[in-house]
Amino acid sequence: MAKIESTQIRQVSNLALLEEMERKYKSIPIEAIVKQDILRQGIHFLPESFLNQGDYKAKDYFIFSFDHTPLSELGGGADTKAPEEIRIQGGHFDLKPTVISTRNNPNSPYQMRSVEGIPTLFLQDISMGVAAYPPKPAWYRHTTKNGKLPGEIAPVIEWGYLIYLTVFRNCQYFGKEEECAYCDINHNYRQQKGAGRPYTGVKDTDDILEVLSWIDAEDEIAKVYTITGGSVLTNLKKKSEVDFYLQYPQAIEEKFPKRWMGKLVAQAFEKEDCQKFKDAGIQIYHPNYEVWDRELFKKICPGKEAWIGYDTWIRRVVDSAEVFGPENVIPNFVGGVELSEPWGFKTVAEAIHSTSEGLDFFMSKGIVPRFTAWCPEPYTTLGTQAGPPLEYFCELLTSWKSIFEKYNLPTPPGYGEPGPGKAVFSVSAFMDVIGYKGRA
Ligand code: SF4
Repeated sequence: MAKIESTQIRQVSNLALLEEMERKYKSIPIEAIVKQDILRQGIHFLPESFLNQGDYKAKDYFIFSFDHTPLSELGGGADTKAPEEIRIQGGHFDLKPTVISTRNNPNSPYQMRSVEGIPTLFLQDISMGVAAYPPKPAWYRHTTKNGKLPGEIAPVIEWGYLIYLTVFRNCQYFGKEEECAYCDINHNYRQQKGAGRPYTGVKDTDDILEVLSWIDAEDEIAKVYTITGGSVLTNLKKKSEVDFYLQYPQAIEEKFPKRWMGKLVAQAFEKEDCQKFKDAGIQIYHPNYEVWDRELFKKICPGKEAWIGYDTWIRRVVDSAEVFGPENVIPNFVGGVELSEPWGFKTVAEAIHSTSEGLDFFMSKGIVPRFTAWCPEPYTTLGTQAGPPLEYFCELLTSWKSIFEKYNLPTPPGYGEPGPGKAVFSVSAFMDVIGYKGRA
């Protein structure tokens, strides 16, 4: 693996780069390679690509912005019309249907154009495939008694599979001294409010239950819900962090027992607190460790380091497997943030070595970490920067898959079907590589 300095040119996406990666990384499907490249570069939607597409689901900004550009600077209608995800297929690589989260970037080499009325994704002038936008669920037509819109209270992502409940849209880790350096949750809240959009800071269980009642009655696609939001350090609405987050699964499972699989994305809690969530009906726990390297964790997650600390965090992740079962503990890390400026590793090789060590540590215990591809968002501590080369993501997927196969682990539950052409997890390609047999 070469030094990043010598691979700067590989930051630029073009057909030659994709073909080089396809030749070099044969254990992962081309769909995963293209998906990671689109995720790292974002998409520039031309206004024509929004025309005559029917009632598709636009970005609900379900937690972070996941855009390379501030909302106020997104031109051409992308601020309100960009779809939540795209599903591309065909094109130069004859891709199987591949679901990819939208990250707006007017400077991206990936352009969504319209060809005879059909949105088509281009890399320079090469077609990467025709695109579909996710259908807007029929129940999005309702409004709650409190006047809230379903897409604000309980949006769906992953092509309708996951109901995403960000119940607290801020984080009490606040400012550069405490916020995770890649995270724009607080900034995104401000920019959504600044744009005059309805964007509820703390969600009411009644609103959520009302929207879920429509989903229960009308929807067969959603299979999972996620409860998440920012960290609570003191209290919120007079509740501790555990009690605040606990009220949601308790209310949901009481009204709709086991109707969907319940997931929790939250801080790493002690076992007794994990047990409360398990008792409430939560099946999958995501105590995200974000970055494996101890020194980088301190720099990149300063609030988590100060309030909980790296060793305690990792210990709690491992302990939580005794409550949920190891296959149901799926901690996330932010893929690529270990290469960020100014603190990150200077080479892809060092980054992969460190991150793979963490993967082996957890997977040897039956815990399967997943990752989201880091999006360098403008208002974060790390700010806008080039991000890792595609080579990093190819190495990461190759390493993730090989360690996953070494321990003969089951497909992580709550993500739908794995494999190219089937995966719906849209913010990284980890589900796209599972079960792929490789190519000669
Ligand atoms: S804990 Fe970190 S990643 Fe999570 S919401 Fe707060 S700042 Fe963002």
